[in-house]
Amino acid sequence: MTSPGVVIVGAGQSAAVAAHTLREQGYRGCITMLGRERHRPYERPPLSKAVLTDIEEPRLEVLTEDAWVRSDIELLSNSEAVALDLRRRHVCLADGRVLGYEKCLIATGGEAHTLPFVPTAHPRVHHIRTLDDARRLRASLQLRPEVAILGGGFLGLEVAHSALSAGASVTVFERAASLLDRFLPCEASAWLEARMRDAGAKLMLGASLSDVRASPRGRMHLITGAGALEVDDLIVAVGLSPNDSLAREAGLEVAVGGGILVDASCRTSDEHVFACGDCTSQQRPGQTVPTRLESWQNANEQARTAAAAMLSAPLPVPAVPWFWTDQGQHNIQVLGLPAPDLEYVRRGDLASDKVMWIGHRSSVPLHGVAINAGSDLRAIRPLFERGQPLQWEDFPLDTTNLRAWVKQMQAHASATV
Ligand SMILES: Cc1cc2nc3c(=O)[nH]c(=O)nc-3n(C[C@H](O)[C@H](O)[C@H](O)COP(=O)(O)OP(=O)(O)OC[C@H]3O[C@@H](n4cnc5c(N)ncnc54)[C@H](O)[C@@H]3O)c2cc1C
Repeated sequence: MTSPGVVIVGAGQSAAVAAHTLREQGYRGCITMLGRERHRPYERPPLSKAVLTDIEEPRLEVLTEDAWVRSDIELLSNSEAVALDLRRRHVCLADGRVLGYEKCLIATGGEAHTLPFVPTAHPRVHHIRTLDDARRLRASLQLRPEVAILGGGFLGLEVAHSALSAGASVTVFERAASLLDRFLPCEASAWLEARMRDAGAKLMLGASLSDVRASPRGRMHLITGAGALEVDDLIVAVGLSPNDSLAREAGLEVAVGGGILVDASCRTSDEHVFACGDCTSQQRPGQTVPTRLESWQNANEQARTAAAAMLSAPLPVPAVPWFWTDQGQHNIQVLGLPAPDLEYVRRGDLASDKVMWIGHRSSVPLHGVAINAGSDLRAIRPLFERGQPLQWEDFPLDTTNLRAWVKQMQAHASATV
């Protein structure tokens, strides 16, 4: 058994940021990072975007070479943790090695969800979670295939745009009657649908697949509620299952809907074990139940929080959740979280493709969605952070005066505290 220090299980976004933060905050002990993949920690957002479309693969490392060297991390790649012993404080690896720890951080992310009738071993069936998945899909797209995408969520739609720009013909199957209607105001969902069709995708809304069979010449035969379809590639983008089994089997608390339960400091139900990123479920300010946030920002924020908590240092102030997606040429950013019964105001003209919606309840802003208007969303962020009621009757609906209105609201809020 090696000498104890911090053992990080997982070698992705949040693992790398946590290790780097530990060093930045002065931690001098051993940091051992276990990664099931063969790569150093890399950024996943480009996997559905530039990795599929650009001639040259973009740089993906989470830490620059310099930051990686300075972080002095012992990375054990191709190494899977298979058990966690909370009493003895050690992690068991698939190859029989055992690592002791003072503190353990679980940063195992998640797996692309699969469906029972999909032949996952078929060479032209794709999920997109890892760099190797994305490289395999890119190679297929170079053949300009006929592609079906199962799932019209942010990821499925990003991949649809990338596949179209690579010259593929694309059909998207989405079980719901409209796109992303749980996450976006209805107008934004309708805009997304129109832009997807303009880009050339065939959208099958309210349609699910019920079976997939291999057909001659390596193609796939899809059975849908609306009939049969034959394609070259099937891309399955139907969500994520958090990698929480290590924690669950060790006896750590796991949320009902999945995800390792962590408190505000990213500590699990064991005082020596922390968790961050896509594998966690956390109750955030203003929420009544723990939820999972599968976003780049959350992975980074929780990593910094967990690192500070491991060192008993002051915790960073929790950030308002933020997420972005690139849908072809269009950038969409989301601030805060959707909730039932929000009243939305819209700024900008939908036809100009530059627009922002703010959803509020009792006049308090809770959910912002910006299409090609990220700077407007940034301008309004301080008002989300304050969490106070605002005067929406004065909200500038046209393209001017947003900053002046934000200042006015800040002054008003300060005066009424
Ligand atoms: C294709 C794609 C596009 C995305 N686009 C966006 C975007 O546009 N905007 C946005 O905000 N977010 C986006 N995200 C989400 C964002 O990338 C993730 O939220 C983030 O990567 C989560 O980081 P993580 O460290 O929790 O998990 P990961 O980055 O998934 O890292 C987890 C690592 O742990 C390893 N692991 C798991 N179990 C074990 C084990 N038992 N032993 C050893 N290693 C293990 C895994 O192999 C993996 O390498 C995207 C994600 C994907 C997949």
